[in-house]
Amino acid sequence: MSMAALQMSREWTGLQQFPSATQSKLLEVLGSFKEKDMSTLTVLVMGKGGVGKSSTVNSVIGEKAVAVSTFQSEGLRPTLVSRSRSGFTLNIIDTPGLIEGGYVNDQALELIKRFLLNKTIDVLLYVDRLDVYRVDDLDRQVVRAITDAFGKEIWKKAAVVLTHAQFSPPDVLSYDVFLSRRSDALLKVVRSGARLKKQDMQTSPIPVILAENSGRCNKNEDDEKILPDGTAWIPNLVKTITEIALNGSKSILVDRKLIEGPNPNERGKFLIPLIFAFQYLFIMRPMVRRIKTDVARESKPAWELRDSGLGSRRL
Ligand code: GDP
Ligand code: MG
Repeated sequence: MSMAALQMSREWTGLQQFPSATQSKLLEVLGSFKEKDMSTLTVLVMGKGGVGKSSTVNSVIGEKAVAVSTFQSEGLRPTLVSRSRSGFTLNIIDTPGLIEGGYVNDQALELIKRFLLNKTIDVLLYVDRLDVYRVDDLDRQVVRAITDAFGKEIWKKAAVVLTHAQFSPPDVLSYDVFLSRRSDALLKVVRSGARLKKQDMQTSPIPVILAENSGRCNKNEDDEKILPDGTAWIPNLVKTITEIALNGSKSILVDRKLIEGPNPNERGKFLIPLIFAFQYLFIMRPMVRRIKTDVARESKPAWELRDSGLGSRRL
């Protein structure tokens, strides 16, 4: 890491704002990075507007580090929040919502890509709300835009975060059933938007994490914010982030080639003309040659014999 990056990151004072139970869990999780000699972790947060991306960043940092806006859109610029604690730096990149007027905002995506130049994405958090009943084509478009920008490999470093987790589903559905239906629907959209195979999702499943950013979030006896099932969600989210960062799949380096080059999912396509040339030289040509020698060897081809009346009896 460069000196400039070191100097930019502030001491993570927000950590002390957490209840002590959360603090010790977080420090334990961060210790696992030290064990692996990792001194930096970069988390990219993406999703549609208004789903709770910025709120989630603030919850995890323990400070109001980025602006949360209830009604306005957030502008186009990504924001880097960088916090250090005893030699370890956590970078979280909050991004503006990608949808505007019913379409993916390409300009916003372009700015995000340029902002990320020469950075390495260790984890992608794809944020959406739990309390939504349907997925639609816009969801697919956002996933596709992320995939086209960074390559489908990014989904091996991704988790889906569902905000508004302290939500009561309609009477007919239990919380767990609602959660599994919502997760399944969203993961299906991710799979199709990212053009992942069923098998990809089995070998590297995308975890779904719940978050509740509201000040009215329930707490346990240790004063930690909890989900309806009693889990303290902030340490749980950070733990999942850690598992993804250390899952063995490569982090995504955003270099010039990725930004300016062709769609990273189509890189192999330059091989296609070569494959044609190969087929022509080594398959087509020998085949044509063989046919020619066959034809030459057979002094009277079958059709000639037939047409002359010798090959078959004519009526
Ligand atoms: P962003 O556009 O994705 O960054 O979303 P924001 O973080 O700016 O949040 C948009 C609105 O949703 C704000 O009014 C937040 O207070 C609210 N919000 C975000 N997350 C939650 C949540 O988990 N629960 C509840 N009840 N409100 C949330
Ligand atoms: Mg925001």
